[in-house]
Formats: sequence, structure tokens, C-alpha cells
Amino acid sequence: MLKNILDIPFFGAIIRSTWTWRLLRLAMLGLLLVMIAYGWHQHAIPGVDVRDPLMYSNFTTFNLWVLWMMGMVVVAMFLGRSWCTVCPVGWLNGLISRFGLRREMPSWLNNFIPVTLVLVLLQLLVYFFSIHRYPDYTALLLALMVVLALVMGLIYRRRSFCLLFCPAGAVFSLYARLAPWQLRVKEKTVCESCQAKPCVSTEQVWKQASISSLRLNWRTRAEGCPVALVPAAINDSAACTLCLNCVQTCCNDNVSLGFRNWPGDLRQGGLRPSEALFFMVLLGMLTANFAKVYVTLREAIFWPPENLALSLGWDAAGFYPLAMIWVGLLFPLLIMLPGLLIYLVGQVKISTLEGEPDDAPREATATFTLSGFMTLLGQMALPLLPLVLSAHLTLAIVKLNAKFGYLPLALQDPSGVKSFLAINVMQTMPPPGVLIALDILKWVIVVILIVGFALSVAAAWTVAKSEDNGQQKIDRPFFVAALVTLFILSGFYGSTVMEWLFVR
Ligand code: SF4
Ligand code: SF4
Repeated sequence: MLKNILDIPFFGAIIRSTWTWRLLRLAMLGLLLVMIAYGWHQHAIPGVDVRDPLMYSNFTTFNLWVLWMMGMVVVAMFLGRSWCTVCPVGWLNGLISRFGLRREMPSWLNNFIPVTLVLVLLQLLVYFFSIHRYPDYTALLLALMVVLALVMGLIYRRRSFCLLFCPAGAVFSLYARLAPWQLRVKEKTVCESCQAKPCVSTEQVWKQASISSLRLNWRTRAEGCPVALVPAAINDSAACTLCLNCVQTCCNDNVSLGFRNWPGDLRQGGLRPSEALFFMVLLGMLTANFAKVYVTLREAIFWPPENLALSLGWDAAGFYPLAMIWVGLLFPLLIMLPGLLIYLVGQVKISTLEGEPDDAPREATATFTLSGFMTLLGQMALPLLPLVLSAHLTLAIVKLNAKFGYLPLALQDPSGVKSFLAINVMQTMPPPGVLIALDILKWVIVVILIVGFALSVAAAWTVAKSEDNGQQKIDRPFFVAALVTLFILSGFYGSTVMEWLFVR
């Protein structure tokens, strides 16, 4: 297994070079600007009575919602947060932050709540305006991201945009815990004895460019770690954005980047309380989205908000926020509830007293706190990650399989207008076909979900296992609770796949 790709001759040197990543990030920034340009002012086709004709044929909508959004699930599964290495928005944010006001982020913002709210807001924009169907709305969203990255960079130190506004980064950080890919220091003792610590330094340094006897000197600020990590203290891959600054600045060649064994970071403890909240919202949205193709199940899932809106006499404007609260919070809680109850019942200890119980009044010692509950949810979330990732991967593969064929059209005609007219109005071109026939794809999907379920069971066992004085202990209530939750989730995914691919 390649534990450190930096050791590969030539290839390792390319990975270490700052110029490799500068050029790639610049190319990505160029692509982002081209996407904004091709989406701007493209909403529909005059004279064509179709609501969203450019959804797949336009370069902007196709690139963001099909190629990037779906492709990134596959990337995150294998390479964790590797997209962040080349992400132009995060890079721009980090770059600007070196020259701005450099304020410290307030501690109350340093959690997953802002990014959870952004995820909810994006879903509401999809519900209300179908932003994913229109190039101009998509371009506006991308432009807003760039502006936010610049403004946040001017105010705060480090990559504040990533922390506050990027739900993609938060999703990658969840999946990075499972990915067989990590950045770690080779020897912690080398870091302990390192005096200069250039990997974390943000001091001003002198730089020099020279050509022959001509020299140009200037002072600049060292980049440090854009998310304030200390490489020697990293023990899970969730927060590291793989920007590779520490690889490039380490004066002892003590950082490695490469593959690792499963189960990744699952032994490193549960999700933080606010990250558990993000996970719950993601779980609800993903599961509801998965069930979209099974009409009866979808109607059952949306029955409560639909009927509440009806009974209140609310139209779509009222239904959507209700649907969001239901799908993003209450529905995932309901999925987890049986497992949580089983776990709590498993905590009850019954013992035999010697003699009569004394009548002295006792103080209740069991207390319920929201943060304790969220910590428990964060622990319960860990074993679900492989199954949730497999469901996410299924959605991504289905979408890529059905729509990848639009890529040549989006490249030839970035506005998407001519392609749409040729396919749908003049019918001089057939619509792009699927990559893999559905008869084969359905078995691929079944295998992915079964593997996801099996890995989740293994993850539940791993998380439930602990060591006490050299003795292995299994937290049985936790394991049973995780199994019950896994069966409930698999019920949603399995029944949808059966109905959609095998019955219909
Ligand atoms: S967290 Fe988001 S904005 Fe930041 S680098 Fe990653 S993908 Fe880009
Ligand atoms: S630990 Fe290294 S690679 Fe990770 S974000 Fe910090 S500087 Fe970048």
C-alpha cells in the first residue's frame, strides 16, 4: 500500500511543488469564472415552452450539479477532502486572508451550525426557485460564493469561508473519516524537537526572486495552516483541507500523504455535537431524496408536513419551510429514535440490594443536557457513515450514468441553447444515452448498498469495542442500537431500490 506518495520519485516532487497547486487552483478559478460567464443571463429559451430547457445542456448547470456535485462523492469516498486541495474558492479565501484585517473568528462561530444553516438555505432555494435547474441562478450562486470568500478573507484570518459557508467541505469531512487516504506526520518526536515549526508559522518572512545578478526582495506572511491545525496533533482526517502547505513548508520532510487501512478514523471518537446536527440534516435530506423515485414512500415521508400545511391552509410557500423542518430535523430523529431508546434502556442497571433499601432521600443524578444528547447522536452517527455514503454514491452514480452524455454537448455549445433545440425541437440529434444499461446498473447499486451495510455493521462493532486495562469490552447496547438504526435506514434504501429498479 502506498503509505506516502511523496516518496515516489518525480511524482512526489510534483506533489510537493507549490507551483503544481498554484497552477491547478488558477485553472480551477478560471473554470469557475467561465462557468459564471456561461450561466449569466441564461434562464430559458425564448419561444420554447419548457420550464427549464438548459438544465443539463448548459455548461454551468451541467458542470456544477452533475459533474462536480456527483463526481465529488466518488472523490471523497477514495480521497477524503482532496477536492479542497484544488478548490478555487477556499484558496481565494485563504489567500486574501493573509492581507486583510486578520481578525480571529469568534469562538461561537467556530462550529458546524453556520454551515448547517447554509445547507438548509440551499435546500430552500432549491424548493422555492429550483436554482439547480437554471444557469443564471447557478451562476449567481457561484458569484456569491466568490464574493463571500473575498469578503470573509478580508475580515478573518484563515479559511473562514470554508468553515462558515461551505456545506460541501462539511460533507467531505464526514466522508474523510472513512476514506483510505490521510495526511499525517511521520514521526511525532521530530515535530516535538522542531524549533522553527514553519508548518504552522504565520510570521512575516522575506522572499527573494533572482535572475542572474538581479534580485527582488519582498516581505510576505507565511501561509501556516489555513484551518489552524497542528500537523503533529492530527488524529482524524475531518478538518485537514489537504492544502499541502505543511508538506511544502516542513523543514524535516516529516509529513506523509497516502493510503491507510480501514476503518480510517472510526476509532477516534464521535462527531462533535454541532457536526452531529449537520449529519442529521444531511441524513434526512439524503434519505428523502433517495426515496423520491418510490412514489408511495415519498408520499409517506412528506405526509406530515403536507397535511400540516393543508390543515393550516398554507400553500407551497408555507409547505416548503415545514417540509425542511421535517426532513432536516424531525424525520432523521425519528429514524434514530428506536436505536436511541434501545441504547438508553441498555444503560439501565438492575442489581440486588443486600437487605432493605434505606429510606434516605437521594438526589437524582441522571441529567439530560442537549449537548450530552448531541454527543450521543455524534457517537451513533459514526457507524451509519458507510451506509449513508453508499446511498449518496448510488444517487451520484445514477445521475452520472444518466446525464454524463451531455458533457460533449456542454463543451461544444456552452450556452446549451443549440443542443436543446437540436434534440428537442428540430430533432436532428438524439438525446444522450446512458453509460451503463439499467439492467447492469441495478446490480451495481445492489452491491454498493450491501457493501455499505456490511461496512456499517463492521463500523458499529469497531466503535462499540473498547479496551479497559488490557481487556476488550463491547458496548452491547450501543452495538444493538446501531444495528437497529442500520436496519431502519436499509429499509428505506432497499425498498426504494426494489420498487424502482426491480418491480417497476
Ligand atoms: S471547504 Fe469548501 S470552500 Fe473550502 S476548500 Fe473545501 S470545498 Fe473549497
Ligand atoms: S494540516 Fe497541513 S495539509 Fe492539512 S490543512 Fe493544515 S497545512 Fe493544510
